[in-house]
Amino acid sequence: MKIAVLGGGTAGFIAAAHLTHYFPDAALWHIFDSRIPTIGVGEGTTPRFPLWLQEVSGVGPDEIGERCGATVKMGSAYQGWGADNTDFVNRFQPPRLYGYHFDAGRVTDLISDHVRATHIDGKVVSLVTQEKGVLIGFEDGSQLHCDYVLDARGFPKGAWADAPMDPDIIRMDWIPTGRAMVRRLPPSADTSMSRSIARRHGWAFQIPLRDWTSCGYVFNPTLSTDEEVLEDFDAFLESEDTEPTEIRVRVSFPNFMRKTWFDGRIFTIGNAASFVEPLEATAIGATIMQVRTAQRWMTDHGSKSPLSDPAIDHANQTMRSYILRNSLFIAWHYACGSQWDTPFWTLAANSLERAEKHAYLARHMNAMKDFLDAGRDLPGARIGACTDPRRWESDVLPMLTKYIPFGNFSELNFAQVGHGIGYYGANKWSAGDNVHG
Ligand SMILES: Cc1cc2nc3c(=O)[nH]c(=O)nc-3n(C[C@H](O)[C@H](O)[C@H](O)COP(=O)(O)OP(=O)(O)OC[C@H]3O[C@@H](n4cnc5c(N)ncnc54)[C@H](O)[C@@H]3O)c2cc1C
Repeated sequence: MKIAVLGGGTAGFIAAAHLTHYFPDAALWHIFDSRIPTIGVGEGTTPRFPLWLQEVSGVGPDEIGERCGATVKMGSAYQGWGADNTDFVNRFQPPRLYGYHFDAGRVTDLISDHVRATHIDGKVVSLVTQEKGVLIGFEDGSQLHCDYVLDARGFPKGAWADAPMDPDIIRMDWIPTGRAMVRRLPPSADTSMSRSIARRHGWAFQIPLRDWTSCGYVFNPTLSTDEEVLEDFDAFLESEDTEPTEIRVRVSFPNFMRKTWFDGRIFTIGNAASFVEPLEATAIGATIMQVRTAQRWMTDHGSKSPLSDPAIDHANQTMRSYILRNSLFIAWHYACGSQWDTPFWTLAANSLERAEKHAYLARHMNAMKDFLDAGRDLPGARIGACTDPRRWESDVLPMLTKYIPFGNFSELNFAQVGHGIGYYGANKWSAGDNVHG
C-alpha cells in the first residue's frame, strides 16, 4: 500500500508515527513544506494522547518528561466561571487516567523518532481523488500517486469568517472566541492541572510545563482589540504576582468543522479537519480518533477502497457527531456567564441559544439534555475531589448511569462543570425545551 501524510505539525507527525507502527510494510511518504510554519501551540492533552504515545512508541511519562519537559495533567481547574464565582475542577475520569502538558515542538521531535517514511520537503498544490487512489501535485509540477492521503496541512482557507462560504464547512458561530495571545511565565509549583481563569475579555489559560508555564488569553477579536486584551493580560499577571518573558505570540483561529473529512481516499485530519477553541484541549484527541479510523479503514479495505459506500457516510457522520458534541459541551461552560459583566460574557452566555438556531444541532442538543440531567444528580465537587483510583471504584463508579460518552465527555464531566458553573441552580439554558429539528 502507498500512503502519504501531508503536514509536519502535531497532527502530521501523529499520523506518520501511527502508520509507521501499524503498516510497517507500506510505502509511506511524509510531505511538508518547511517554508510554511506549524501553528506551534497545542500544549495540553486529554488522556487519549498518553495512551496513544505508549502504544506506538512505548514512551511513558518519565521519558516524555525528561526529553520534552512534559508534565502529567489530571484535568482542568476553573476560576471565576459561572453564576457563583466558585473555583472548580474538571478532573479526567476515572482519575487513573492522565494527559500531558508539553511543548508542541519538542514532542513532534520525539514522535519523529518513531516515523519511518520518505520525507519530501515541498509544497502540495493539488490533491485529486481518483478511482484508484489520490494524485498529489507539487508546486514544481511533479506528481505522486498514492492509495491514500492523510491531509494535515492546518486550517483550510474556507474556515475563516471572511472567506467565501464553502458548503463543506460548518462555521461554529456558537463558540464565542477566535484569537489568543500567548506568553511564557516562570514554571509553576503545581503542574497537575491546566488552569482556565475567566477574565474581562475572555479567559486566560495556564499550562504548567516543567521549564515554564505557557499562559494565553483567549478572546473574541470582533469585540475586543489586542491592546485592550494585553492591558487586561498584564493586570491578570500582576494579580498573580508573575512576570512574563519576552516571548509573545498572537494566534487567530476559526471554530469550524468539515462536513466530509473522508472521501474514500483522503482523510483530512487535525486542524485541517476541525477546530474548537482550546477550552478542554480536545484537538489532539480528535486527531488520534481520525488517525485510528483511517488505520482501521485501510486495514479493512486495503488499496481497494470504494469511493461511494454507506460506510464512508457513516465515518463522516460519526466524526461530525463527535466534534459537534465536544463543541456543545465547551459552549455550555459559558452558559452561566462569569463574574465579568462585559460584551464578551454577554455573547458567551448566549452560546447555546445561538446553537439552537442551527437545525443540524437539534439531535445533539437533545442528546445533551440526558447528560445535563444525569449530571444534576451527581455530586460534581466530590467527583472532582476524588483522586484515589480505588476510592473512585467504590464511591464514584456505582453512581454512573450512562455508559456512553457525549463526544469526549461523560456525565461525570457534566456533573463537575455543571455544579461548578452553578448551572443547576441557575438553570439558564435547558436543552430540549424548544429544540426542534
Ligand atoms: C490558541 C490555541 C491553543 C491550542 N491549545 C491546544 C491544546 O491545549 N490542546 C490541543 O489538543 N490542541 C490545542 N490547539 C490546537 C492545536 O493547534 C492542534 O492540536 C495541533 O497543533 C495540530 O495542528 P496541525 O498539525 O493540524 O496543523 P499545523 O501545526 O498548522 O501544521 C500544518 C503543517 O502543514 C504544512 N503545510 C501547510 N500547507 C502545506 C502545503 N501546501 N504543502 C505542504 N505542506 C504544507 C506546514 O508546513 C505544517 O507542517 C490549540 C490551538 C490554538 C489556536
